[in-house]
Amino acid sequence: MDQPRRPLREICIVGGGTAGWVAAALMAEHFKGRLAEIELVESDDIGTIGVGESTVPPFLEMLKRLGVNEQDFIQQTQASFKLGIRFENWTEKGETYFHPFGAIGAPVDISEFYQVWLKARANGYDRPLMDFAAAAQMADQGRFMLPFKAARTPIGGAAYAVHVDAKRVAAYLRAFAEARGVKRTEGMVEDVATRPDGFVQSLKLKSGRTVEADFFIDCSGFRALLIGKTLGVGYTDWSEWLLCDRAIAVQTENVGPPAPYTLAQAQDFGWRWRIPLQHRTGNGYVFSSRHLSDDEATATLMAQVEGRPVVNPMVVPFKTGVRERIWDKNVLSLGLASGFIEPLESTAIHLIYRGMDFFFRLMPDLDCDPNLAAEYNRRMTVDYEEIRDFIILHYALTRRGDTDFWRRCRDMVLPEGLQHKLEVFRANGALVEALDPLFRNVSWYAVMDGMGVKPRSYPPLVDRIDFTGLTREMDRAADILRAFVGDLPTHQDFLDANCPAPTVDLPIPQPLPA
Ligand code: FAD
Repeated sequence: MDQPRRPLREICIVGGGTAGWVAAALMAEHFKGRLAEIELVESDDIGTIGVGESTVPPFLEMLKRLGVNEQDFIQQTQASFKLGIRFENWTEKGETYFHPFGAIGAPVDISEFYQVWLKARANGYDRPLMDFAAAAQMADQGRFMLPFKAARTPIGGAAYAVHVDAKRVAAYLRAFAEARGVKRTEGMVEDVATRPDGFVQSLKLKSGRTVEADFFIDCSGFRALLIGKTLGVGYTDWSEWLLCDRAIAVQTENVGPPAPYTLAQAQDFGWRWRIPLQHRTGNGYVFSSRHLSDDEATATLMAQVEGRPVVNPMVVPFKTGVRERIWDKNVLSLGLASGFIEPLESTAIHLIYRGMDFFFRLMPDLDCDPNLAAEYNRRMTVDYEEIRDFIILHYALTRRGDTDFWRRCRDMVLPEGLQHKLEVFRANGALVEALDPLFRNVSWYAVMDGMGVKPRSYPPLVDRIDFTGLTREMDRAADILRAFVGDLPTHQDFLDANCPAPTVDLPIPQPLPA
């Protein structure tokens, strides 16, 4: 080492939504009070966005890394289990498919199960792919069991995530981080001072206090106070591919037991989510404002929700895209400040802890070597684009032509990489694989198959396999899986027996002013 190290001494996080508290909790746990001091500034007057309640399986890995007890977390955040997403009306009205977490079947010889199933199908076999996905079967029958506790059974390959109450998650992680030394300051940032080299120097709060730090993490949500407003880093707009730019969100009382999956039901001008928690259900309509007004979207959503609303519907505008530089100078942006891809596959919270993972690997010292930021930006952009393409796929493969919205989706010109991926897949079911992606092959198979893409052939390597009796074996495995799942506890029974959340009184919404 030529020079003595000059580590960061103080890191300031602006914002106390899911992004701010995930960042604070991870840093508190990783630094263990031995590296930089951490201060988080948040404004109660502004509050948090309060949506963001469906997660993906790596979320639970993050909790494990924090040393959080999963059962306690589920109880405190009123969480329920999620085995995947049920898509309704996306291909055509009335058609349904499921994107499950975890494995679909087991590899045969050196081929993935999907490729073997393709060959079987080419020879007339008609059993649907999802008959071999344990998570899809559990979701279909409303049953649940922790797959790792049943590792040597037909559901051992399944995976799961959780549906959570966003406000309770932020509160949980706040308590976690504060207990490990993170200092929280309630206050409104009114001004930001920069140094002559353009780096952020300090924040001026409404109280008059100045907060100085060596490095800042911008978790200020769509306001993007530091990365956008102060440093002026631009935003790459992806709305040519992802037309939705607004959501109406409303929470309702539960009607019946919570389903162990997120519902994504296509509508005329977007789609509706239903996210069941233990104490209530989150609902929303994500739509294109070019095609529908807020009032029309609200009326559509309110006509479809099943339980009594417990809050007034909220309008959430958003812009799909990503910062041109997610990390610039001494500011790293996380969460909505760094970018947003609409919530169809529940990926935004994932990108927060993924962003922290890369930050830990590339963490700078006081000099903030721009090469570290450049590598960070390159790597995070890869992740953002991979997720963007996966989401676009859901729209672009539609056969719907019943509204201008769906016709535009169906007829859009795809990003080059996605077009190539689709063509390779159509040739023989092979995938162009990304670098350590969130959505692995099985996810692409599930959505491609669900949206009706039929490869023209299958990879020749499958011909190494002796198919004699193989489809009979496949039938037997699917029957065993279905029967095994039928004997599992229902999702509700599993929650009640293992992680029941405290009963809470739900509010009664006040009438909106005329
Ligand atoms: P926010 O929650 O907006 O927090 C911003 C923070 O900054 C607040 O604490 C605020 O007080 C503070 N702040 C702002 N300005 C100032 C200031 N001047 N001074 C002091 N403090 C300030 N993600 C998923 O993973 N799954 C989903 O199912 C999902 N659904 C979504 C649905 C919709 C419609 C939308 C829009 C997003 C969804 N997301 C989802 C994304 C998810 O909500 C966010 O990624 C997550 O909540 C993180 O938000 P945040 O912390 O970046 O911003």
